[in-house]
Amino acid sequence: MGINGKTVSLGVVGCPVEHSLSPLLHNTMARLTGLDYTYCAYRVEKGEMENALRGMKALNIRGLNVTIPHKTEAFRLADEVDGAAKRMGACNTLVNENGKIKGYNTDGEGFIRSLKREGVDVKGKTCVILGAGGAAMGVAMALAEAGAKEIEIKNRTADKADALCERINKYYPKKAKRVEDVYDADILINATSVGMNSDLSPIDDMRVFKKMKKSAVAADIVYCPRRTMFLKMAGSVGLKCVGGIGMLIYQAVAAFERFTGKKVDETIVDALYAMTAMKKNIVLTGFMGTGKSAVGREIASRVGMRFIDTDDVIEREHGKITDIFKEKGEKYFRDLESETIKRAAKEQGAVISLGGGAVLRKENIDILRQNGFIVRLKADIDRVYKNIGDNTDSRPLLSGKTKEEAAKLLEEREPFYQNCDAALDVTDAEKEESAGAILDLYYEHCLKGALE
Ligand code: NAP
Repeated sequence: MGINGKTVSLGVVGCPVEHSLSPLLHNTMARLTGLDYTYCAYRVEKGEMENALRGMKALNIRGLNVTIPHKTEAFRLADEVDGAAKRMGACNTLVNENGKIKGYNTDGEGFIRSLKREGVDVKGKTCVILGAGGAAMGVAMALAEAGAKEIEIKNRTADKADALCERINKYYPKKAKRVEDVYDADILINATSVGMNSDLSPIDDMRVFKKMKKSAVAADIVYCPRRTMFLKMAGSVGLKCVGGIGMLIYQAVAAFERFTGKKVDETIVDALYAMTAMKKNIVLTGFMGTGKSAVGREIASRVGMRFIDTDDVIEREHGKITDIFKEKGEKYFRDLESETIKRAAKEQGAVISLGGGAVLRKENIDILRQNGFIVRLKADIDRVYKNIGDNTDSRPLLSGKTKEEAAKLLEEREPFYQNCDAALDVTDAEKEESAGAILDLYYEHCLKGALE
C-alpha cells in the first residue's frame, strides 16, 4: 500500500535516532497487517520534546515511540500514563487520542513476551538481573507484575542497585533485594550494556555458569550481536538461552498494537524474527576502490556481525597480493581467492567483502549465494580513484594503467556483476549512507525469504 492522503503517521523520536530499527519493524508490520500507516525517524534534540509533542498534536501524528534521551521527559509531558509507565517514570510510546497524549512503556512487556515465545514462564521464578539502569528497571517491574517470586539485582554500582530495589519494593513490597552472587537464579538476565557490539560478558568466569542450576535460563537484552558472549558462555554449559532481539521486536509489536488498536498476529512476529535473524551473510562485491571494505566494516559494527575481507585473509595467510601476482601470477592468486571464498561461504551472519575480481569465477558467487545476499557496489571511475588515491601500486590490475584504461577494465567487468541479488550506486554516497541502504535491502531480502 503506498502513502496517500489518508495514511496515518507514526514515528520515533530520539537523539541519535538514525540507526533505530523501529522504522523497519513498524513499516514492516504496517505492510504485513495491511494497515495504512507509515513510520519515520525524527531526530529531536535534548530539550526539544515539548515542541515535538506540540508538533505531534498539530500534525495529527497518531503515535510516537520515544528513545534516548527523551523517555523521562515524555513521561512528564504526557497527559495520561498507564501503570507500567508510571512504575518506571518513563514512556517509550505515546499515542495521540484526539489531541490527548497517552503514555505507555512497552519495554518490560516486550521482554516478558519474548520469554513467553521461548516457552519461559516467569511465574514463581527467582530472577537475577545484572544491571540497574533504565532497561533493568523495565525488565524488573515487568517480571514483578508477571508474578516472579523474587527479583535480585546485581550491579557494578551498589547504590544504584539499592535504589532500584527500593523502587520495585514500593510497588511490589519485599519483592526485590540486592545480591552479590547469582546462584539462586531460575532466570539470569543481562540488563547491563556489557556485550553490546563487543565480545565481553558481564560474567566472565565460566565457573559461575557451571555452578548455576542446570534448569536455569539465561536471557540477554543486548541484541547486537544476536548471540552475545554472555549467551555463548551460558549456552556452553547447557543453559537455555534467550536473545535480546525478541524484546526489541515485542516492544515494537506492543507499541504498534497501541497505535492501531489491533493485535499483531504471531505469524507476523515470526516474519520479524526471520527478517532480523541475520543468519545469511551479506556479501559485498564490486570493482576495486568502490569502498567494499569500509562499507562492510560499517555494516558489521552497526549490527554486530563478523567482518571478513577476503583480500585481508589472503594477505594474512600468503603475503602481499602484489607479490603473489608478481611471483606466481594471476591464476595462482585466483585459486587462493576461490579457496578463501569457499571457507568464508560457510559463515553464518557475516559481512564478507570480496576482492574486485572475485566475480570473474562464477563458482565463487554460486557458493556464496548458498547462504548469502550478494550486493554489488557500483561507482564511477572518478569515485574509484578518489577512494584509492594515488595508491594504484597496491592494486596489481591497476598498477601502471591510465584512468582511461582502468575505466575500460571496469566496463569489461560489467557483465560479471549482473549475477548479484542487488546493486547500489555509491558514487555520491558516504559509507554510513551505503551501509544503511544495504541493511534495508538485506532485511527486505530476509523478509521475502521468511514469507515464501
Ligand atoms: P543504562 O541506563 O546506561 O544502564 C547501563 C547498566 O549497565 C548499568 O547498570 C551499568 O552499571 C551497567 N554497566 C555498564 N558498563 C558496565 C561494565 N563495564 N561492567 C558492569 N556493568 C556495566 O543503559 P540501559 O538503558 O539500561 O540499557 C542497557 C542495555 O540494554 C543497552 O545495551 C541497551 O542497548 C539494551 N537495551 C535493549 C533493549 C531491547 O529491546 N532488547 C531495550 C532497552 C535497552 P553502573 O550502574 O555501575 O554504571
